[in-house]
Amino acid sequence: MSHSATDSSQRRQRPVIAIDGPAGAGKSTIAAHLARRFGLLNLETGAMYRALALKAIENDRDFDQEPELLELAAHTTITLEPQREGNRVLLDGQDVSRRLRDADVTAAASRVSVHPRVRAWMVARQQALGASGGVVMEGRDIGTVVFPDAEIKIFLDADPEVRGNRRFKQAAPQNPANERITEAAVIAEMKERDQRDRNRAESPLRPAEDAIILDSTAMTLEEVLARSEEIVLAHLGAVTGAASGKSVESQIG
Ligand code: C5P
Repeated sequence: MSHSATDSSQRRQRPVIAIDGPAGAGKSTIAAHLARRFGLLNLETGAMYRALALKAIENDRDFDQEPELLELAAHTTITLEPQREGNRVLLDGQDVSRRLRDADVTAAASRVSVHPRVRAWMVARQQALGASGGVVMEGRDIGTVVFPDAEIKIFLDADPEVRGNRRFKQAAPQNPANERITEAAVIAEMKERDQRDRNRAESPLRPAEDAIILDSTAMTLEEVLARSEEIVLAHLGAVTGAASGKSVESQIG
């Protein structure tokens, strides 16, 4: 791949790994695994859209009014604290990590994220977070918009039924309030969100041209983890070359 003089990847000592894909494809699990395996920070950009959506809910704002959301964003601080499994999220200093997973916030996040200037606000912050590299960043537009020069891009996908089934199994035991939610409802909600994410005018969900597409429909979690590790190791091997004599881990960690 050729790089222009302003290419930010030339200023990074350590790589950016971009993980994109639809809801329930396993992005968070893969990103957390790669971060642990290679000693990188794991940043969930969806949590930032969710946090702004929560603030809009709490302040009774209209999710479809971009100016209202921008005004709110100007007085909002969102902090992602990478943990072993996913991120702890602070909204104006308050830990909202659990609340962000609720259905009302999930639905609002996908509506808030259609607005171009809201996206620009998010993207600027995400670029700052990843500027020095050493991150696995997951979302919908990381490889296409946030870090088009990311050293490694993986687009994770799976059939909607499979993604809905996995999400259903994951959510049910965590929250007794979820007992009444049916698998069909989870799949329907996911399809609606996919539809909005893929068809929005601004930065729609799509694989970057140079992304490696990993369809996990017929794969076990272990297979997906192994394959994603292979992708990273192959990239590192290609970059460092056999002649350097250094192990690939020492190049990334
Ligand atoms: O990944 P997660 O499900 O937490 O994302 C919540 C919503 O935020 C998505 O449905 C999507 O609409 C939006 N999002 C986005 N761009 C990102 C990350 C998330 O538009 N990079």
